Amino acid sequence: MERVFTDDAGKNMSAHRRSAHDMQTAPTGGVGDGKVYWHDGIGLLQSTRAAPLDAVDVLVIGSGYTGLHAAIATARGGRSTQVIDTHSPGWGCSTRNGGQISPSIKPTLAELTRKYGAERAMAIRNEGHTSLEWVGDFIKSEGIDCAYRQCGRFHAAHTPAHFRELVEDTERLGREEGVPFEIVSRGDQHKELGTNAYFGGVVLTRHASLDPAKYYAGLLQVAKDAGVAVTGNCPALDVKQEGGGYSVTTPMGQIRAEKVIIATNGYTTDLVPWVQRRVIPIGTYMIATDPLPKALIDRLFPKDRVVSDTCKVIYYYRPSPDRTRVLFGGRVSADETNPAVSGPKLKADMCRIFPELADYGYTHSWTGTVAFTFDTLAHLGQHDGIHYAMGYCGSGIGMASYLGMRLGQQLLGDPDGATAFDGLRFQTRPLYFGNPWFLPSVVRYYRLRDHWQIKRAATRS
Ligand SMILES: Cc1cc2nc3c(=O)[nH]c(=O)nc-3n(C[C@H](O)[C@H](O)[C@H](O)COP(=O)(O)OP(=O)(O)OC[C@H]3O[C@@H](n4cnc5c(N)ncnc54)[C@H](O)[C@@H]3O)c2cc1C
Repeated sequence: MERVFTDDAGKNMSAHRRSAHDMQTAPTGGVGDGKVYWHDGIGLLQSTRAAPLDAVDVLVIGSGYTGLHAAIATARGGRSTQVIDTHSPGWGCSTRNGGQISPSIKPTLAELTRKYGAERAMAIRNEGHTSLEWVGDFIKSEGIDCAYRQCGRFHAAHTPAHFRELVEDTERLGREEGVPFEIVSRGDQHKELGTNAYFGGVVLTRHASLDPAKYYAGLLQVAKDAGVAVTGNCPALDVKQEGGGYSVTTPMGQIRAEKVIIATNGYTTDLVPWVQRRVIPIGTYMIATDPLPKALIDRLFPKDRVVSDTCKVIYYYRPSPDRTRVLFGGRVSADETNPAVSGPKLKADMCRIFPELADYGYTHSWTGTVAFTFDTLAHLGQHDGIHYAMGYCGSGIGMASYLGMRLGQQLLGDPDGATAFDGLRFQTRPLYFGNPWFLPSVVRYYRLRDHWQIKRAATRS
C-alpha cells in the first residue's frame, strides 16, 4: 500500500525538519493543525479507491478508528462497504493522538450506579476494561507493527490532597473492579518519573502505548484486505432517506447506501444536526521535543510508562516509542488556538515538570479535535435510522476501535454486537447547537484552579 496524505497536513510533513524557531514564528492567523510527529513515521497514506462506489450496503462517514473498525466488521460480514472522509484517510485524531491506551470510561462506578443501577453501571465500566484488552488482542492477531506495549501508566498527583484521593479511588477500583495497580509514594517517585513536581501517584499496570499512526496505517491495510473501499477528499455534504435506504451527496457524486454510519467524532458537522448537538468539540495540543540524550530520557522515564496527572485540565506525556523524545500534550489555552501559539505554552508547562528540558527545543507542534459528551460517556446508537458511534472524551484509541467494531456487528444483526451503551440517552442541552461557547470560561477557570493548587502545594512542600 502506498501511503500518501494528500491534504495540508501532508504538505506540512515534507517540511518536518523545520526548526522549532521557524514554527514558533509561523503565522498564527488561522487554526492550522500543525506538524504531527507521528506522520513522519508512516510516510503518506492514500485512499484505497480514488472515487467512491455509487451504491453500497454500508456507507461509513469518517475514516478514523471508529469508521474503519465498523467497516472491517461489515465487510467481513459480506456487506459491500464504502468509507469516505473529507480529508485523506486517517486525517483526524486517529493519526495525531498521544498513543496512550486506557479503559476510557470517565464516570466512576458510584456515579454510574446512581444513574443506572449497580448491574448496568458495572457493565458499562467493564466495557472500558474490555476495550483496553480487545484493542491489544486485535493488534496482535492482525500482526500490526505499531510499537504496541502494555507499558502501564503512572498517574501522578499534583498536590498531597490529590495523592490521598487518588490512592483511595484506586484502591476502590482494585476492590470493586479487579484492576491491578501499584501505589508510588513521593519518596519512590523517581523510580517512575524523573521529577519532583508531583506528590506520588499510582501505576495502572494494564494501560498500554502504541504509535497511533502506525496502528492506523496497519488498520487501513486490514480494511483494504477485507474489501473495504476507503476514499479521501470526499466529504459527505448531505444525507437523505430515499426508498428503503439513504442517498448521500458528495462532490464526487451521490452514493446510495442501505445503511449509513456517522463516525466523525470531534469533526462532526451539521450533516445530522441531532448528532452535532450531542458532541462537544475540544482542541487538544501536543509537542515533540528535539532528540534528547539517552541518559536524560532514561532518567526522566526509567520505566517507559505513559504518564498523566490529576490536574482537572490534564497533562499527558510519554517518551516516543524509540525513546529519543518526549511527546507532551495538554489543553494549554482557554480558547482554541494555533499550534504555533500552543507549542511554547506546552514547552513552558513541560519544563515546570522537567526543568532539564529547558535547554532543548521542539520539532513538532500540532493539534486535533476530540469530542466530549454531556455525560462524559461514549455513545453508539441510531437516529432516524442513521447509525453513529462517538464521544470518546479524549481517550478513544481503545474505545473507538472497540465500539466501531461492535457497531459494525450491530449492522450485521450479530447478537455479539450488543454493548452496555445500547439505549443510553444521548443528551444535549438547551441552547447548544454544536458550538461550545461555554468552553473557554470553563477551561480558564479549571486551569487557574490547577495552577493555584500546584503553586500552593509547591510552596508548602
Ligand atoms: C492531540 C490528541 C491527543 C490524543 N491522545 C489520546 C491518547 O493518548 N489516548 C487515547 O485513547 N485517545 C487520544 N486522543 C483521542 C483519540 O485520538 C480519538 O478519540 C480517536 O482517534 C477518535 O477516532 P474517530 O475515528 O472516532 O475520529 P477521528 O479519527 O477524529 O476521525 C473522524 C474523521 O471524520 C472525518 N469527517 C468529519 N466530517 C465528515 C464528513 N461530513 N464527511 C466525511 N468525513 C468527515 C474527519 O475528516 C476525520 O478524519 C487524542 C486526540 C488528540 C487530537
